[in-house]
Amino acid sequence: MLTVYNCIVNEHDVRLVFLAAAICIFSCLTAVDLLRHARNSIHRPVWLFVSAASCGFGIWATHFIAMMAFAPGLPSGYNGTLTVLSLLIAIALTGIGARLAISAKWPNADLAGGALIGTGIAAMHFTGMAAFEVEGRISWDPAFLAAAIGIGVILAAFATRLALSKAEDKTRHAAAGLLVLAICGHHFVAMSAVSIMPDASVAVSASAIPANFLAVIVALVSTLILVASSIALTIDSRNQRNKFELQRMYKLVNAAVEGLVICDGETIVTANESFCTLTSAEDSNLAGLSIATFLLDARLRSKLLSDQNELVETEITDRNGEIIPVELIAHTIDFNGKWHRALAVRDLRSRKEAEAHINYLAHHDALTGLPNRRNFNARLDQLIAATDSNGETYLALFCLDLDRFKEVNDLFGHAAGDDILRRVSGAISRLLGMDDMLARLGGDEFAVIVPGLVTPTAASRLADKILEALQSENLNSPIGFLISTSIGIAIFPVDANDRETLLNQADTALYQAKAEGRNTYRFFEAKMGAEARERRMIEHDLRNALPRNELRLVYQPQMRMDTGAVTGFEALMRWHNPRQGDISPTIFIPIAEESGVILQLGEWALNEACREAASWDKPLSVAVNVSAVQLYSHDFPQRVHSALLKTGLPSNRLELEITETSLIKDTNRALTTLRQLKALGVRIAMDDFGTGYSSLSNVRAFPFDMIKIDRSFIKSVDKNEQAAAIVKAVLGLGRGLGMPVLAEGIETPDELEFLMGESCAAGQGFYLGMPGPIEDFRHLISDGAPVEDKKLIAL
Ligand code: C2E
Ligand code: CA
Ligand code: CA
Repeated sequence: MLTVYNCIVNEHDVRLVFLAAAICIFSCLTAVDLLRHARNSIHRPVWLFVSAASCGFGIWATHFIAMMAFAPGLPSGYNGTLTVLSLLIAIALTGIGARLAISAKWPNADLAGGALIGTGIAAMHFTGMAAFEVEGRISWDPAFLAAAIGIGVILAAFATRLALSKAEDKTRHAAAGLLVLAICGHHFVAMSAVSIMPDASVAVSASAIPANFLAVIVALVSTLILVASSIALTIDSRNQRNKFELQRMYKLVNAAVEGLVICDGETIVTANESFCTLTSAEDSNLAGLSIATFLLDARLRSKLLSDQNELVETEITDRNGEIIPVELIAHTIDFNGKWHRALAVRDLRSRKEAEAHINYLAHHDALTGLPNRRNFNARLDQLIAATDSNGETYLALFCLDLDRFKEVNDLFGHAAGDDILRRVSGAISRLLGMDDMLARLGGDEFAVIVPGLVTPTAASRLADKILEALQSENLNSPIGFLISTSIGIAIFPVDANDRETLLNQADTALYQAKAEGRNTYRFFEAKMGAEARERRMIEHDLRNALPRNELRLVYQPQMRMDTGAVTGFEALMRWHNPRQGDISPTIFIPIAEESGVILQLGEWALNEACREAASWDKPLSVAVNVSAVQLYSHDFPQRVHSALLKTGLPSNRLELEITETSLIKDTNRALTTLRQLKALGVRIAMDDFGTGYSSLSNVRAFPFDMIKIDRSFIKSVDKNEQAAAIVKAVLGLGRGLGMPVLAEGIETPDELEFLMGESCAAGQGFYLGMPGPIEDFRHLISDGAPVEDKKLIAL
């Protein structure tokens, strides 16, 4: 150690030693950086060479500057060829060592590579020493020599390992330091091994390069090379970083959902994948194209490409010519060192679709897909505003309400009801023109707007077609049910000047169509309004009639024609309305049926009549009228049964009067109900015979106990031959089927006489007894009272 210290301090110029060390430190730092860079660079061989050259020069320069510091006090110089050779050896061995350390896959290859670099240091040193010419003899101490080689090899091996270790930032200086120690350590220990015996006979050759001169050249050249290689390194690192950054940017930009296009003027420089997908363009073909290919609006384009930074909603055209709604925003960016405009493009298709769907749902009925009330109102307002109120053209408004739709739902379930609504909507839609609109206003209510009519009556043709279309729709109906509709028509500007009134008028006409037998249409007439209002008031009052005790029953006797005996009474409902006085059942019963109140009223009449009859001494029968609505209510037989149980009236004393019309609505169902009623022991009469569909098959098919000929046939039957013929035919039919016939509405003795002559079994009418409170007939129902009628006996 002391020898080495003496060697450095006493035999060397210490200032130059420091210079050598400085160059060595500088070159080692560069060497470590270059080695790492060579490892990561794609141009590895080039950087390996640069690294080897730099490191080799560093070692070489350190050696020769240190040699300049070495002052043996004798004339000396350097052999040029060997000097150059020593440099080449340093570069070659460092290069091979570095390559081994970086590329070899085997374990500890870094140490081995480093050791080779250490060998390079030694080989350079000894070749460099061989180039050293001095006036004396040089001898070497083998122990120091071995130590020098060992220090160089081992320290260089670990310096390389540190240089290539993962924790790059922390080990940079340590690795460079170790390498400095390897070079300097080797050099000075090796120099300590040198002893020079002055010998004037050993001459320095004339061609030898003077030591001082060489040292200056070495210092200059090596500094130059080191500076150049660190500049190159810096530039390359920066390029690599930029490239990496750019790749990262591309990846990031491509990952964006939004399309991005970068434009230089109108020319597309580049675009991300999203933009290519959006516009169905090939990535490679985009660059160089004009943005005008996609963005047709020239004004917007120039705005976006100049300075506008606001979000705009517009459309772009893709490569296939398809228009795509988009949102655009542009920004100016520095791209490759130049100002460009970057356009961000957001696809609005799914948002637009969702908006359209929501809008559709808000304006359409989900079941039929028809416009809903809101849509309808808007269109009606718009058309009313557009229709010339001076009467050049007219607008017809149809209000439709399906007949007995509630029963369809009740009988066949809601799925069948929905099916009917769809069929109706389809059938009517097919009849309409481009400008017409069919809307579903709710439930079974529809409306049609027909604008541009030349005459108001043209509307009736469409109404006829609608009724016909529904008739033919019935042929395909899976439930075999009759769908029909009632239609009310109001005309703008004839019937009203605004939507509200027009709708009211059409509604009134609809009410009228319903009242007049359904499956028909009616135009609005001024007097309808008053009637409709009246009907609505009655309907309202009727709901309160029962709780307010405004109803009662009157009784009309029914008699045997042959004996004149009173066989029973028909119970007839009477209503005293506090506002209007007595109202006829011919008015309030249809309204009660329409509104459904008949269910409560009929139930009351049934119970009241049974209760009354059960209190009579004589076992006379009581006839109760049954509405079709009651007949088709699901529990009617049970209700009759419970009325009988509650009042204690024997079932054979109850007669239910059912009109023929109510049977044909659903003959199977009616038949089932009648059979259940018959099973209770109740008798059934066919009421108002002759006014309905009157078919022989009905009479035969249904289990009737009596036929009641309608009073319209009895009126003047004694004078009117046609009526007489019909009555005779019905009587014959009754006889043929073994079914007794009762003649209703006998008003005169002549009518009575005629019927008796034709052997009619029973009769009822004002002439035989006016309907009245049961008290009026006390004598007929109490024990001991004669039951024969004086009029019959008189005949
Ligand atoms: P309907 O079942 O045919 O009842 C007989 C109607 O003929 C009664 O009219 C009765 O007063 C009337 N009448 C009886 N004899 C004569 C006569 O000689 N000449 C004339 N012109 N008429 C006569 P009302 O009480 O006004 O009842 C009318 C209709 O109202 C009834 O016709 C029936 O369909 C219905 N109705 C009455 N009460 C009820 C009821 O409790 N339930 C149901 N569902 N309907 C009822
Ligand atoms: Ca009746
Ligand atoms: Ca009748």
